[in-house]
Formats: sequence, structure tokens, C-alpha cells
Amino acid sequence: MKGAIITDLKKLEIQEFPDPKPDGKNVIMKVQTCGICGSDIHMWELGDKPGYKGIRPGHEHVGIVVDPGSRTDLKVGDRITSLPVSAPCGKCTACMEHRYDDCMNRIKGVGNFADGPAGTYAEYFFTAPNLVRKVPDGMLNEEAAMVEPCATPYSAVKDMNIRRGDKVLVFGGGIIGSFAAQWSKYFGADYVGMVEVNEFRGKKNLEVGNIDELFDGKDPELLQKLIKASGGKGFDYVLECTGQSQPLNTAILASKMYARIAIIGVSAQPILFNNIYALFKRARLQAYLCYTDAEFDEVMNLIATKKFDVMRYYSGDCKLEEIEDCFKYLHSPECQKVKIMLQFPRD
Ligand SMILES: [Zn+2]
Ligand SMILES: [Zn+2]
Repeated sequence: MKGAIITDLKKLEIQEFPDPKPDGKNVIMKVQTCGICGSDIHMWELGDKPGYKGIRPGHEHVGIVVDPGSRTDLKVGDRITSLPVSAPCGKCTACMEHRYDDCMNRIKGVGNFADGPAGTYAEYFFTAPNLVRKVPDGMLNEEAAMVEPCATPYSAVKDMNIRRGDKVLVFGGGIIGSFAAQWSKYFGADYVGMVEVNEFRGKKNLEVGNIDELFDGKDPELLQKLIKASGGKGFDYVLECTGQSQPLNTAILASKMYARIAIIGVSAQPILFNNIYALFKRARLQAYLCYTDAEFDEVMNLIATKKFDVMRYYSGDCKLEEIEDCFKYLHSPECQKVKIMLQFPRD
């Protein structure tokens, strides 16, 4: 089969890999659609570094069953997606206590580690049976591929208990920030502001009604404007979705005393923050990576039943051979797309 592999600094090659073989346990999928994620682009930017070279990316996949493995409820041709994590190891303390979502060995997920499971920028994929989910009839491939990026901000907004009366500030209007803003509104936040440097992305969020106000991340008076917009005392909740130093520092300064600050943006490199800001605010910073299995299913259901619209971010397709050009475009400052989907021929 053909698949993509990171071979060097900003180098993604299409190579030939062995097809996964049926083993009576794992489910084999023929990939149809896979969302291109910002984290894949970060890995590609670090492609000459150990740990990144050799990654076979892709983790927002939908496809059809080629071999159902041990899943007796699945048949060949069924449309499926899967949680892009590893199965719980069954051996660590968390697993022993039946807290499978907390198993640290699950983090070595699909398409993120050179020595972890291969990702889904590839024609075929195999995974543990308990991670596989049937895609409901009537749900588009593109909707099902959006469950994954939608589930992390869902987990954060739900865990922070954002609701009516709250004033929320989101940093970053990429897919994660956009969903963070949309979930905040979904759960009833009164006001959602967004800080973004890319004008297209910011305006898109305004247009679709995710946010009440847009702030230019390059504005030298940004902090004063944010404090004013919060009513003077800072925001109740701040969701940092850029994974960069300056936004995190501004996020802390723009929050109220004891505010909850979610760190959702992934950074592959160290970021710096002035801890005195956090100390003065007695800020409660919490990081969110991924989601529980139940949250993944909740998001899938909300999208499938059209209670939560994700198609507004779907901005085009690319083929496997075009994927590196697509990375370059998504990485460029003039990018005017939010989510591009890798599509394989369906026959
Ligand atoms: Zn992703
Ligand atoms: Zn475990």
C-alpha cells in the first residue's frame, strides 16, 4: 500500500508499505478520508529531529472495514472510524484501577510517534477492535473525520464547566480554537472573544457566529482592549489554543483572579511564560490533551444528529500525492482554509 512518511525537515514522502495482514483480532480499514491536522504539520516542521523522523502521520480517519478482526458486529464494507489512541495497556496503575482513560500508554497514539502505530495518510490501517466505532448512516465522512479534532476542545469546555453567564476568551482560530469557541457558545457562554493573527480565520469565526468579538493578536494595545471587553476584571475562562509563548502570557494577564485557563494548543517545542503573572492571578492552569472514550462517543452523536455543525470548517480536499503541497499551504501566513481532507479514491 501507499502511505506518507516524514523523512526529514519539512519532507513528507509517499512510499510503499506492506499491507496490514488479518490476525483475527485487529480491525483492518481501507481509508477513505483523513483530516489534515495542525499537529501533523508541526511534526513535519521538526522532521529532521529524532522522534519525528519516521513518523507516518494521520489520525482523523474514516474508512470501510476490510477485515472485522474479532468484532462480530462489523462486516466488510461497514463505514468506521476509530479513536486514534493506543488501547489501554491493562498493566499500569490506572488500568488496574479501571481508569482506562488515564492509562499513559494510550498517549502513544496513531500517527504521532516514529515507533508508535502508523497513521492514516495511508491506503490501509489496522487498529485494536475496542477503539473502532461504526459511523452512523447519514453522517458524512467529513463529519466523522471531524469528531477527533472536535473532541479535545469539547473535553476542555465541558470539564471547565463553561455555561450561561460566563465570559470566555479563546486564543487561536484554527480548528481547535474554532471548536473551543463553538463549544463555549453551545454550552451557553454569554460572551466569547477570540484573539487571532490570521484575519481570514478570525473573520470566519465571526461570520459563523462562534464569537462575539475578534481581537487582532498583533495589536499593541491588545491587553488593554481585552481587559475592557471583559468588563474590567478579566475573563472567567481562557482557552489557549495556539501553543505559543506570547498568547499564553497574554491569556494569563487577560484572565480574572482564580480564573481557569485551559492549555489546549500543542507545541512541539518549549514555550515560555512569566510565572509571576500566574502567581499574582492565582491562575488555575490545566492542560487538555485528547478526551475520554465516552467524550469521543458523545461528540460523534452530537455531530451525527446535527446538533453540532462541523461542516462549516470543511474547506476542501487533497489527494495523497498532493499532501505535502497542502502542508505548505496550510503552514503559510496567507492560508485561507481551515480543514482540508485527504481523500482516497472510493471504489
Ligand atoms: Zn489532530
Ligand atoms: Zn495502562
